[in-house]
Amino acid sequence: AFVVKRKMRKDGKWARAIEIVKEMEEKCATPIGKLKQVADAMLVEMHAGLASEGGSKLKMLISYVDNLPTGDENGLFYALDLGGTNFRVLRVKLGGKDGRLVNQEFAEVPIPPNLMTGTSNALFDYIAAELAKFVAQEGEELQSPPGKMRELGFTFSFPVIQTSIASGTLVRWTKGFSIDDTVGQDVVVQLTKAMERQGVHMHVSALVNDTVGTLAGGKYFNKDVIAAVILGTGTNAAYVECAQAIPKWHGALPESGEMVINMEWGNFRSSHLPLTDYDLALDVESLNPGEQIFEKIISGMYLGEIVRRVLLNMAEEAAFFGDILPSKLKIPFILRTPDMSAMHHDTSSDLEVVGSKLKDILEIYNTSLKTRKVVVELCNIVATRGARLAAAGILGILKKMGKDTVKEGDKQSTVIALDGGLYEHYSEYSKCMENTLNELLGEEVSKTIEIVHSNDGSGIGAALLAASHSRYR
Ligand code: BGC
Ligand code: MG
Repeated sequence: AFVVKRKMRKDGKWARAIEIVKEMEEKCATPIGKLKQVADAMLVEMHAGLASEGGSKLKMLISYVDNLPTGDENGLFYALDLGGTNFRVLRVKLGGKDGRLVNQEFAEVPIPPNLMTGTSNALFDYIAAELAKFVAQEGEELQSPPGKMRELGFTFSFPVIQTSIASGTLVRWTKGFSIDDTVGQDVVVQLTKAMERQGVHMHVSALVNDTVGTLAGGKYFNKDVIAAVILGTGTNAAYVECAQAIPKWHGALPESGEMVINMEWGNFRSSHLPLTDYDLALDVESLNPGEQIFEKIISGMYLGEIVRRVLLNMAEEAAFFGDILPSKLKIPFILRTPDMSAMHHDTSSDLEVVGSKLKDILEIYNTSLKTRKVVVELCNIVATRGARLAAAGILGILKKMGKDTVKEGDKQSTVIALDGGLYEHYSEYSKCMENTLNELLGEEVSKTIEIVHSNDGSGIGAALLAASHSRYR
């Protein structure tokens, strides 16, 4: 009788765990109708954000980029790309119309976590010091002409209100960064001062968001690129807008008639978004409560953390991993999205990868195949919601650009440049995103839309924009 009772208790708990997953699945559901509502809400907010400063949660920031690269860019330029967990420095040699991109070299350096929440000077000094090292290694092949001022494109992947192509103040940090004394400061001034302190003599000729850099880099290689989306640690999009469709722009109309807009779509929020109690708790406990809600359900910094929160609840409420609560499961952000992705992609018959991730990261031993399957299902639920919402966001942009229908005589294809670790490495996610976009657009329209991977386009894009805005030609 004792054994039977124990078994009943166990079955009851298992049933409760499954119920928690089912509830999550229902709350995260993104049927096509809902995605269309999200895209329409995005469109409404785009208009509001373009109408007036502060008119919407979508900042729709003016980039001061009114011309994208043509291929004529010429000379040696540097780029510095700061935005995620690593930062990159690049040296690019541009050869003009005939030569195009002649050569490039780069170095990638991790940012020590303590610098992400320390002081402005400490962060910028670190970056400038790494840049100094990289400049010192200028070889014969990629060398600045003697006596010429070196120029730099600065990719800074946070919301910035630009005051010109090469200046702008930080609105707030996002992702894992939180450094109070940078907010409200001109980040080009911060970088320039740090470079002076580190003895590097360089001029910052362009300040760009990574989406804007990716758009510029994408356009350089493919003239049909009209928008760029980042799906990485954070998420965001930029696109080419008609200057006349930006009521809040009071400057002269650019000759091109166009202006690149950095949407800052990570901060999008709508009652149509499928949010769960886990998301709300994650938000409240985050570095930026109330901000970046779209980002918190679709980007790489958060997907693994959402899964961890659900697993913790299953462990607490339903002893999903046995009677003793695995204490590692209580540690925020311990389950990273790359690990979630590895579990999600596990194709072995006994889900060996899932077993070893649970063991190595969470110290949960001897999981059954049944348990592992549930974990994979949960990863799928969370990734699918994110990927489908990202597709809805892209539909919003296509609608704004009038590219969501096929017009007669319109032969030009529309290309969107994508980049970011989530897009690049989490293939279940990117596949789902692309399939959903096709589903939303329908067969005829989706034939006219192409998504291309613009690998590290943001750094090259910044160098290209530094070249076209060069002060020392
Ligand atoms: C930032 C954006 C950036 C995106 C992708 C977001 O958190 O606010 O400026 O483009 O991450 O890096
Ligand atoms: Mg890459």
